[in-house]
Amino acid sequence: MARDYYGILGVAQGATDQEIKRAYRKLARELHPDVNPDAEDRFKEVTTAYEVLSDPEKRRVVDAGGDPLAGPGGGGFGGDPFGGGGLGDIFQTFFGGGGGGFGGGGRGPRGRVRPGEPALVGVTLDLDEVAEGARKEITVDTAILCDSCTGSGTRDDSKPVTCGTCKGAGEIQSVQRSFLGQVMTVRECPECRGVGEIIPDPCLKCGGDGRVRSRRTMTVKIPAGVQEGMRVRLTGQGEVGPGGGPAGDLYVEVSEAVDDVFVRDGDDLHCTVRVPMADAALGGEVSVDTVLGSTATVTIDPGTQPGTVVRVRGHGMPHLNTGMRGDLHAHLEVVVPRKVDSAQADLLRTLRDAIGDDVEVVTASSKSASGGLFSKLRNAFVGR
Ligand SMILES: [Zn+2]
Ligand SMILES: [Zn+2]
Repeated sequence: MARDYYGILGVAQGATDQEIKRAYRKLARELHPDVNPDAEDRFKEVTTAYEVLSDPEKRRVVDAGGDPLAGPGGGGFGGDPFGGGGLGDIFQTFFGGGGGGFGGGGRGPRGRVRPGEPALVGVTLDLDEVAEGARKEITVDTAILCDSCTGSGTRDDSKPVTCGTCKGAGEIQSVQRSFLGQVMTVRECPECRGVGEIIPDPCLKCGGDGRVRSRRTMTVKIPAGVQEGMRVRLTGQGEVGPGGGPAGDLYVEVSEAVDDVFVRDGDDLHCTVRVPMADAALGGEVSVDTVLGSTATVTIDPGTQPGTVVRVRGHGMPHLNTGMRGDLHAHLEVVVPRKVDSAQADLLRTLRDAIGDDVEVVTASSKSASGGLFSKLRNAFVGR
């Protein structure tokens, strides 16, 4: 269950980075444990929400309905969201270096093994692939477990040792004065970067990170009826975390290629059908091949006017969940011959004489047309 990070900060989903920053700053001042000791949980929650929404990658995951902190096998908020680090960075931003002490309760070393970040790749499908569903091959540039040390980061049988600078705490505490009064500040140990231990003899292949970069090719199944911008989530297929930590999720975002014939609108398809002038007047039928091998019959009523839209039910795209098909909307364009020979011209003149003059040539200004510009236009149609 994804957390409502926007709700926690009290901002709308479309909020700008500035609005998110402002909302967090305001809440952080109110809820900071040194100001309001009872609000510590709420403060952590707000800070975590800001951490997520201020990171474009994580925010994209949230907007896709996911939760970037929900690692494999458990919700991020159920556990300790601060175990993953990140809070320190935010304090750097807002409180000018060094985090608040949370009433003296230190964070401790954050551990070398951490979950991997989610990753995002795109695939482009043509209209038929969207209609039928597709298996697409994707190539992901990602981090995989180092097979030389299987994530430990150490060379051969060597072991990590406790960091001498922070004595394994991962952080260095000091008392500082700030706008909040005298506060205990904690900053990440620069020697071990908060891990609490160092690897004196790192793995030669991964340099101690426990993971290596790799290009991976895999096949992803895209269901029929997906919409532009939708994402397929592949659990645990993202990058492996530092120290060989559990892999993040991989999101595959669908783009739709522009089609030569059809414009898609949800489950409906739109196309233009060119109808010869005589057929528009007399009526007829036109066949249109749509997706999934179906052929729609577009009925042209006698006397069809340019711009008429004919709807053919059930010849659109399949709905993502139900498979029920939307409709085809045929936009009729009446085609006037560009060139006629003398025999055709004679026929048209005969037709014109037979139809007579009952078509109102000028509209929308009939009232003002008496004797003005419009009557001249009307006269221009007479004769030849
Ligand atoms: Zn250290
Ligand atoms: Zn290694």
